[in-house]
Amino acid sequence: MDKQQFNKPIFKHDCDKCEFIEGFMLEEKRFDLYRCESDSPGISYIARYSHRGGDYWSMPWNILKYLNAEGYTLLLSEVQKRAKLREKK
Ligand SMILES: [Zn+2]
Repeated sequence: MDKQQFNKPIFKHDCDKCEFIEGFMLEEKRFDLYRCESDSPGISYIARYSHRGGDYWSMPWNILKYLNAEGYTLLLSEVQKRAKLREKK
């Protein structure tokens, strides 16, 4: 997969508060990573893995940033790494 394909989402996602961060591959599965900002719970990270409405993983940044990702799933570590980079901006 060439790099360009990670610059835009490939799955349907209809939240107008979401900002697309990047796509990434994990164990041969594709994820679209979003950052969602709302009044409550604030900033969340969302990893979507299909077009179906409920097919995404999400976690509030306030929790994500304090987790020791070792020992959690690969997906969690992967999202945490990328979220930390994004929140440094
Ligand atoms: Zn959203």
